[in-house]
Amino acid sequence: MKNIEKIIIELSKCYDGEKGSLDYTTPFELLVAVMLSAQCTDARVNIVTKELFKIANTPEAFSKMKVSEIEKLISSISFFRNKAKHIREASVQIMNNFNGVVPETMEELTTLSGIGRKSANVIMLEAFNNCQGIAVDTHALRISNKLGLSKNTDASKVEQDLLRKIPKKYWRVMNHLFVYYGRAICDARKPKCNECVINTYCKEYKKRTKN
Ligand code: SF4
Repeated sequence: MKNIEKIIIELSKCYDGEKGSLDYTTPFELLVAVMLSAQCTDARVNIVTKELFKIANTPEAFSKMKVSEIEKLISSISFFRNKAKHIREASVQIMNNFNGVVPETMEELTTLSGIGRKSANVIMLEAFNNCQGIAVDTHALRISNKLGLSKNTDASKVEQDLLRKIPKKYWRVMNHLFVYYGRAICDARKPKCNECVINTYCKEYKKRTKN
């Protein structure tokens, strides 16, 4: 069995099966929540969207708002000005190009303002139950580098490396495993390496414990 399969089996054993932790009730709400979640915690996003979605939760509603109005509603989120702009632009695009409905293909989703491949992967998987790849967030990127699965630092390149190395049957679960493990064990600042179930595969750990 290849190391990557052994790693996936070990991570799966400790993964509690928790799915994405953003709150949403429609694909469009998820799209907005995913946009807001860049460099922000899911908990903070959920607090903000709980109130935001009472005021607007459709592309039609957001397309009629001014960017400054959206900014006020999401001002406790990191990079809120940029995100407000993207939410409005994407809403207008959905209204004009997709009849007001969030598109269901990777190609179409990535034409929307503020939606890159990582966000599109999350939306495809969570909203449409259609796994098209592996969403590479900060956790997936960091752990992939530590395990030597990719030397790249650009998320799209890391994803391409992972898609080449990981059999397709594992792509779905991989969307959750690295995020879960990055939060629970392989923390960016204080990784719990002695508790880590995959430390024998970790290049960084091996280097550190060599002497
Ligand atoms: S050994 Fe440490 S750095 Fe390596 S994957 Fe495990 S927790 Fe992360």
